[in-house]
Amino acid sequence: MKDIYYRLITYNKNKYGAKVQRIPINAGFTCPNKTGEKGKGGCIFCDSTGSGFASLSSKTPINDQLNAMIERYNGRANMFMAYFQSNTNTYAPVHVLKKLYDSSLIDDRIKILDISTRPDCVSNDVLDLIASYKEKLDVFLEFGAESFNTNTLKLMNRGHTVSETLDAVLRAHKRKLDVVLHFILDFPTDTMEDIIEMAEISSILGVHGVKLHSLYIAENTKLGEMYKNDDFKPLTLNDYIERVITFLEHLSPNIVIHRLVSEPPKEGCLFGLWGLKKMKVFNMIENEMKKRNTYQGRLYKF
Ligand code: SF4
Repeated sequence: MKDIYYRLITYNKNKYGAKVQRIPINAGFTCPNKTGEKGKGGCIFCDSTGSGFASLSSKTPINDQLNAMIERYNGRANMFMAYFQSNTNTYAPVHVLKKLYDSSLIDDRIKILDISTRPDCVSNDVLDLIASYKEKLDVFLEFGAESFNTNTLKLMNRGHTVSETLDAVLRAHKRKLDVVLHFILDFPTDTMEDIIEMAEISSILGVHGVKLHSLYIAENTKLGEMYKNDDFKPLTLNDYIERVITFLEHLSPNIVIHRLVSEPPKEGCLFGLWGLKKMKVFNMIENEMKKRNTYQGRLYKF
């Protein structure tokens, strides 16, 4: 049966003949939206780990982080993606970045170098460095776009604009890099029209993939404070399901879905996934799509 959406696992199986397991790396970066260079305090939802709660401590050398995580798979996976996840993984001089990225290429089981960053933190020199790894292995470059609504970006305190995201994608594409855009689909100031824009603009840009996130609210964040003071009301699970389905329907069928639902942190989480397990939400989305006989790209018009 044809997939109802283009899963990363399908893309990897077609390309490598097997699953490629993602290994999160904490390279000890910080973020220009926290240091004052772009902004202070960070995005209102960002906790102290910078979305890297699943990775090991940055005190552990990168090669040891990878080896320790690979060992956990104990033969269940033989191909891996070195995923620079925590904070802003291009926020350092080029020679420092090179040393860090190089140290993730521990052996030829690493098939993909995956670097996650902000769209306003990639100079042309940094993009040239990242593109140079394409000679050795596949490279994904992930940008936190989060929304294409300027007011939502302001409310999130993202510290970058929509045009900076578009500029970063176009400069990365000039270097033939595979770009993955992140979006938070259930931010309350975004409407369904905004969701359709996210899907259609991503399609027109021709990005390689997208990662969809459901908003979680962590302790010790600005959003956490707003939530506790009743100044922020999350959307419902049904809203999220509707938004994911609408997004997929308007997205080009050629774009790979790297994530459909994000996992909230196990500790210090005030609100996340409506109290359900990730797999449950995942299955609810798939079942609803099957029930409606819909699929990725059904309403894609470009
Ligand atoms: S850009 Fe990422 S790391 Fe920086 S403050 Fe926002 S969520 Fe946190």
